[in-house]
Amino acid sequence: MRYEINGRILELIEGDITAQTADAIVNAANSGLRGGAGVDGAIHRAGGPEIMRECRQLGGCQTGSACITTAGRLRAGYVIHAVGPVWRGGDQGEAELLAGAYRRSLELAAEKGLESIAFPSISTGAYRYPLAEAAAVALAAVMEHLSGETSLGRVSFVLFNGEIHEVYRGVLEQQIRNGGN
Ligand code: ADP
Repeated sequence: MRYEINGRILELIEGDITAQTADAIVNAANSGLRGGAGVDGAIHRAGGPEIMRECRQLGGCQTGSACITTAGRLRAGYVIHAVGPVWRGGDQGEAELLAGAYRRSLELAAEKGLESIAFPSISTGAYRYPLAEAAAVALAAVMEHLSGETSLGRVSFVLFNGEIHEVYRGVLEQQIRNGGN
């Protein structure tokens, strides 16, 4: 699904984030930037050891924020390591932290003057954030960014299977009906 905001594209695709050609791909990282399973493991495996060397130099990244490295052997130019929250029931500031991880990733991409960025569904794997709620936060943060000044002309969500893709599509359609909120 493709949706246009301000002449810019927000797209939902099913696939593997490591295969994307966007200027930056986003990692669902942990605050230690130590690597892990899921998206994180896949990015470090595909990108090679250079990414981890840079992560060690950064030392870590706060939950609700994001940090940037080069992308090693990946086709993307940069990896943005976004640290979403672990879901603890929803009353521990999870929504604000998840929005912050997306917002900071978008800001970092715009600061570099990048044209395209690809996100996975942050926090909805090992961190157990409920999928539809995470999709609502993620899509709202991207729509808000695309309606302002930015170098980004294309933001993609690369969703790992059909079920996740369907949930994001339903939430996006609902947000469009509600006028982008
Ligand atoms: P978190 O720790 O933030 O929850 P995970 O990596 O465990 O991150 O999962 C986040 C989402 O990414 C899940 O929906 C998972 O299915 C998905 N995912 C796992 N591997 C990939 C991949 N290679 N490309 C895109 N999405 C992936």
